[in-house]
Amino acid sequence: MARVVVVGGGYGGASLARQLDADLDVVLVEPKDAFVHSSAALRAVVDATWQDRVFFPYDRLLTRGHVVQDWARRVSPRRVTISPFESIDADYLVLATGTSYPFPAKFLEDETEVAIARLGRLREALARTERVLLVGGGPVGLELAGELTAAFPHLHVTIVDRADDILTVGDYLPELREAVRSQLAARGVEFLTGAPLAYPPPVDVGIHHPFTVETTTRVPIEAQMWFRCFGARPMTDYLDEDLAAARRPDGRLRVTDTLNVVGQDRVFAIGDITDLPESKRASVAATTRRWWRRTSGTWSTADARRRGTPRHPSGSCCRWARTAVPRRWSGTAAGAWSWGRRRRPGSRVPTCSARRSRRCSGESDASRARAHRSLDAARIDDDP
Ligand SMILES: Cc1cc2nc3c(=O)[nH]c(=O)nc-3n(C[C@H](O)[C@H](O)[C@H](O)COP(=O)(O)OP(=O)(O)OC[C@H]3O[C@@H](n4cnc5c(N)ncnc54)[C@H](O)[C@@H]3O)c2cc1C
Repeated sequence: MARVVVVGGGYGGASLARQLDADLDVVLVEPKDAFVHSSAALRAVVDATWQDRVFFPYDRLLTRGHVVQDWARRVSPRRVTISPFESIDADYLVLATGTSYPFPAKFLEDETEVAIARLGRLREALARTERVLLVGGGPVGLELAGELTAAFPHLHVTIVDRADDILTVGDYLPELREAVRSQLAARGVEFLTGAPLAYPPPVDVGIHHPFTVETTTRVPIEAQMWFRCFGARPMTDYLDEDLAAARRPDGRLRVTDTLNVVGQDRVFAIGDITDLPESKRASVAATTRRWWRRTSGTWSTADARRRGTPRHPSGSCCRWARTAVPRRWSGTAAGAWSWGRRRRPGSRVPTCSARRSRRCSGESDASRARAHRSLDAARIDDDP
């Protein structure tokens, strides 16, 4: 039986590993002890009951295959090296290592217990904090502002962005910017746009520690805590020289329309690390089953005749993601990144991933493709 090694157990990798489990010898390499549902992470910052909706242990993900809890330190076309003493040979390789993002949108910690403890310390510190600085007025900064002001109405939140407005990277409607801005302003959020910070605060993110910084236009900002709400970085530094040839300067991998890493017939990449012109969303990363069956040849002739010409799954929709993401995981917010799309005037401030998730079905491929392009740009280039 062919062995497929999936590197990275996020939305894309975990979904694919589970889908292939019945038919192939699946090995999932992932350093964390639990799947992390990033879509719910910012709500968990302010609400401890949401922790259960963020971390989902891998122990019941696969029935036949298995999860190796470690980092892939070096990956070549047919082998994944875990340590100097341990490597895994592969017939097929799928790279699904996603992007890193500063806490609390994503977690550095590999153990759930440690990540939860950090969230707990953050909540305690927030309760005695009066002023918070958010650096970056993109989707993450705005969502965090919504969560913080909803949970801690006394909190004064300042958002700094080097651009002249919020949500400037991407294809957002001016009406959306205005609606989000005015709703957050009504909660007392202060916007300082048009100039970056002159220097970063002298303390780590999410720590209570009074400081003063200023923008390059000399506007002083006093706060006791800050968060860096920009800086998604593709995680692809483990590639050997054969695979690294397909890496772009921004860290993403060039892939073909069948998601092969360019120049490789048995190595594939999915999700946030690909250079596809799509928005990088959980729902897109998880849309791999159809693609895999087709690409790997497990797609039957009858299937092919019925379904037509293969194409990569970036045009598939959130409804598909809901079937692809394991049921137990799909209840909260898979596919809920939808608020970042071009929205109609009057859209509400995004504060709740679960609420948002109810809005993400029924959209056409064309509008999704537009949204994909805009968010793709927004999430990589949203430096303030
Ligand atoms: C705050 C926030 C909210 C979001 N909300 C939504 C939303 O509501 N809806 C939506 O559709 N999208 C949302 N997104 C985007 C979504 O999270 C990403 O598009 C999605 O995670 C991409 O999936 P992926 O499988 O490519 O990568 P990830 O889900 O990031 O998974 C990558 C995995 O690879 C592992 N990994 C990394 N390096 C290695 C290595 N060397 N060896 C082994 N494993 C490795 C990581 O530990 C991780 O588990 C949100 C993102 C953020 C940051």
